[in-house]
Amino acid sequence: MKDRELIFLEPVMKENVWGGQRLVTEFPYKAEGAAIGECWGISAHPHGDCKIAQGTYRGMTLSELYAKHRDLFGDLSNEQFPLLIKIIDAKEKLSIQVHPNDAYAKEHENGSLGKTECWYVMDCDSDAKLVIGHNAKTREELTQMIHDGKYEDLIRYIPIRKGDFIQIDPGTVHAITGGFLILETQQSSDITYRVYDYGRLVDGKPRPIHVSQSIEVINVPDEADIKAVKHAEALPVNTLNLLESCRYYKVWKLNVENEFSMLQENPFLLASVLDGEGSIDGVLVKKGAHLIIPAGYGKVELKGSMEMILSTAVE
Ligand code: ZN
Repeated sequence: MKDRELIFLEPVMKENVWGGQRLVTEFPYKAEGAAIGECWGISAHPHGDCKIAQGTYRGMTLSELYAKHRDLFGDLSNEQFPLLIKIIDAKEKLSIQVHPNDAYAKEHENGSLGKTECWYVMDCDSDAKLVIGHNAKTREELTQMIHDGKYEDLIRYIPIRKGDFIQIDPGTVHAITGGFLILETQQSSDITYRVYDYGRLVDGKPRPIHVSQSIEVINVPDEADIKAVKHAEALPVNTLNLLESCRYYKVWKLNVENEFSMLQENPFLLASVLDGEGSIDGVLVKKGAHLIIPAGYGKVELKGSMEMILSTAVE
């Protein structure tokens, strides 16, 4: 018998104007509304603090668990639980946005964290493109293009296929376009500056555009697209395939076929089942499950046929 248990979470569902129905038809999630855009699978953020679904800590929120039982998280020194895991169903395109780094967010957004994020593309159309980066060579040129509304010349579209992995550093102009299903691993922050919204109206009005913040935080020149995209679909099975290691997180892709065991020696390990089903140490799991494997857990035995994304925080 293990002295540490797996911690399963109840997701928080979000309605977004650009959302669809895939999260409630293809996953075991429940939500009302025609436009469900996000499932916050592992989150301690005040805008969606997940409850522990079962076991010793059932009913506690993740932020409470993190505050009271820091030992489960390897006694991490971060004041707030540092990561947020979402599944995003974009039926329509999202606005074009950019996130600040920690220093800018701390100064301008009430001490909030900045936002570095990454996407694993669970599904998309065959000719899909994402907005990553921009074409301005200097900040003057960027400012001019934004003031002149030349957004279609400014932004850069990158062809993307299912199984791609994309790292979005702060200051990178980016947008998810329609038809994408994405698992996002991100710093636990909600600070987003909207660069451009394609002139759309929401409830009869354009949504606010954060012109001055955008001009301040966008990286110039931006070569993000050159290094941002990795093809990660056909990776070896029963292997922890490291997709990204940055100053905030490490992210792995794991395809379990039959049996795989690993040692959990990170401060904690976040796990999301993207597809398939199986068991983790005898507990049945299937597509849509999100869980935390705590510090000091040791050997983890996985069985079945499962596609998973795992992550941990870097202090
Ligand atoms: Zn973003």
